[in-house]
Amino acid sequence: MDKTELGKLLKRLTEVDGPSGAEAAVAAVVMDVARDLAAEARMDALGNVILRVAGADRPAGRVMLAAHLDEIGLIVTKVEGGFLHMEAVGGVDPRTLPGQEVTVYPTGPGAEQYPQGLSGYIGGRPPHMLTEDERKKMTPLKDLRIDLGLWAAAMVRVGDRAVVRGPYTELLGGRVAAKALDNRAGVAAMLAALSYLAGMKHDWDVFAVATTQEEVGLFGAITSAFGVMPDIAVAIDVTFGATPGLKETETVAMDKGPAIGWGPNMHPGVVSRLRAAGDALEIPYVNEPIPGNSGTDGWAIQVTREGIPTGLVSIPIRYMHSPVELAVLADIDRAARLLAAFIGRLDATVLAQLPEEV
Ligand SMILES: [Zn+2]
Repeated sequence: MDKTELGKLLKRLTEVDGPSGAEAAVAAVVMDVARDLAAEARMDALGNVILRVAGADRPAGRVMLAAHLDEIGLIVTKVEGGFLHMEAVGGVDPRTLPGQEVTVYPTGPGAEQYPQGLSGYIGGRPPHMLTEDERKKMTPLKDLRIDLGLWAAAMVRVGDRAVVRGPYTELLGGRVAAKALDNRAGVAAMLAALSYLAGMKHDWDVFAVATTQEEVGLFGAITSAFGVMPDIAVAIDVTFGATPGLKETETVAMDKGPAIGWGPNMHPGVVSRLRAAGDALEIPYVNEPIPGNSGTDGWAIQVTREGIPTGLVSIPIRYMHSPVELAVLADIDRAARLLAAFIGRLDATVLAQLPEEV
């Protein structure tokens, strides 16, 4: 998959909305892309998309990749004329909301006329009307409203979902910005890894899972890891890229390759093999210390069944959980190549070695 194709894939993945618990539109894109990449594609009861690519060895080990499909969003809690009250689904930052366009997905009477959703705006009081003190404070979510225009509100029900818009935009130097790069960047890396694997020999069976409901509790990872029963798993997510105003020790450099997480959430044998794959193919990567809960699918997968040796590959992004998340396309491609190289190097001896590497 070249950079142009990867950019097109990421654009497709970020242009659809999939707030936690309502990921079907994104899942459909993954199922469509997967037709060229995986012999088997299915969805489970939680909406996880599970792709399987058979390895050459029999019986083969099973490696699971997990990248979450869902994104943060908003849920309607009260309809007041054309104004909607809302709560956050996942870690929404209220500071990022005033002045934004949103898409509201109605389910009430007449909603079928608007399959693409309704346009809405999150406004606020004009600065002229605020006291000096009020201007310094952020408006809490409970005081913000989505303005739909009066006529449309009847078709919106409490519980309906809304997502802030953030169009896919190419910037200078191979940088791209969009909403939901957390974690469509990871989903794109996972799918690109499958496209690299198509041209390689690999012994192990690969289960690439696009998981649901990560942002509200890692739920898709919990059920899919239980169902897939892998011998090894690697979660793919985003991490904090170097950003003005953030400490160097809290971030990883951008455009230096993906980060390989290392801490109690990761199995030493998986981490060493991820690094070895990067070293062997001269794919740059960054080591990222993660002292406890990685906050990713990997946290749930690690303690599935009797325990699954787990690794974490992260793509650095800026402005996480905002509509202008920013990544470097080359880092996504490097993550894909690293994952493919890692899988290609898994052979019959690995399963016997892992217990001694704890
Ligand atoms: Zn994420």
